[in-house]
Amino acid sequence: MGYRVTLIPGDGVGSEVAASAVKVIEATGVAIRWDSHTAGAGAVERRGQPLPDPAIESIRGTGVALKGPLETPVGGGFRSANVALRQIFDLYANIRPVRTILPFRSYEAIDLVMIRENTEGLYVGVEHFVKVGDDPRAVAESIAVITRTGCERIVRFAFEYAVQHARRKVTMVHKANILKTGGSLWLDTGREIAADYAGRIAFEDKIIDNTAMQLVIRPEQFDVLVTTNMFGDILSDEMAGLVGGLGLAASANVGAGAAIFEAVHGTAPDIAGQGVVNPAALILAGAMMLDHLGETDAGCRVREAVTKAIRDDGVRTRDLGGTAGTSEFTAHLVKLLRRN
Ligand code: NAD
Repeated sequence: MGYRVTLIPGDGVGSEVAASAVKVIEATGVAIRWDSHTAGAGAVERRGQPLPDPAIESIRGTGVALKGPLETPVGGGFRSANVALRQIFDLYANIRPVRTILPFRSYEAIDLVMIRENTEGLYVGVEHFVKVGDDPRAVAESIAVITRTGCERIVRFAFEYAVQHARRKVTMVHKANILKTGGSLWLDTGREIAADYAGRIAFEDKIIDNTAMQLVIRPEQFDVLVTTNMFGDILSDEMAGLVGGLGLAASANVGAGAAIFEAVHGTAPDIAGQGVVNPAALILAGAMMLDHLGETDAGCRVREAVTKAIRDDGVRTRDLGGTAGTSEFTAHLVKLLRRN
């Protein structure tokens, strides 16, 4: 029978990385019945909306989805289907681990986890233009919404994650020196939750701009980071840069009712359809999905196969300095997984 999982291949390189991830997950021997749906720009073209009801209903039924990147127009146009999915299913915790597979520049042993608040902050979509005189777009107002409940649950999630994964420290990232309301509610609430874990998990707080700089010059001081929606979005791309780029950065969006696993990267329109995209990020997200399903042995085997292929066997896609195409890299992983 197997697990039922919703599959949303997505736009741009999405179909290439999703096909690869499905092959690799199937090579672990874990039986999965995929329920495939469209979303994003492809769904706008075919169905007139970025997040069609059948995709939403499928996730409601399965509770688990593997999702490729979805295109969102810059500036105007339709609202992000990614943000909508997080809000519909209240996927409040975005887990983004980054770990060195191949030493990149001077960074040899990066092992960091970003826990990003996924439903509040500046991404709530409360924004509008204000007309002044005859200029309808004279002023733009974007409102960041921070709630005590939202702060409590994500900071507690970060500490519980640290306990369960034997991590040593949680760094709370903020801008409470300037953002006197949202920033201070975030920081004060976080400090209260942190007190429950005193003596078990170390805690510190750091201002966002300093954190961005410290991540580049002394990343080893960090372990688990927890921050608000937009800061987490930006810092996790920076963290991906410490391990060689977006091709290796996986992400899980978790809430009470569902879990959606995806790559951190977007649709990569500059390389779509060329057979050169690195599928490892979505494959590693697939490993997080296997862990979530309770198939932790299969999840570990996928992570080990990705590490062996890239580090020991030198099978690397172009973004990692290699020459392997998406299918060659995928076939190598399938061979490694079928062998053990
Ligand atoms: P992007 O992540 O798509 O690409 C940034 C750069 O990284 C490009 O040069 C791309 O070729 C490269 N890159 C990304 N993933 C790669 C991979 N797996 N292998 C090799 N190279 C890779 O970011 P962008 O160009 O800013 O965004 C393009 C679109 O993706 C936008 O519409 C954006 O809204 C969307 N997006 C979606 C998600 C999501 O669905 N979760 C996330 C980010 C961006």
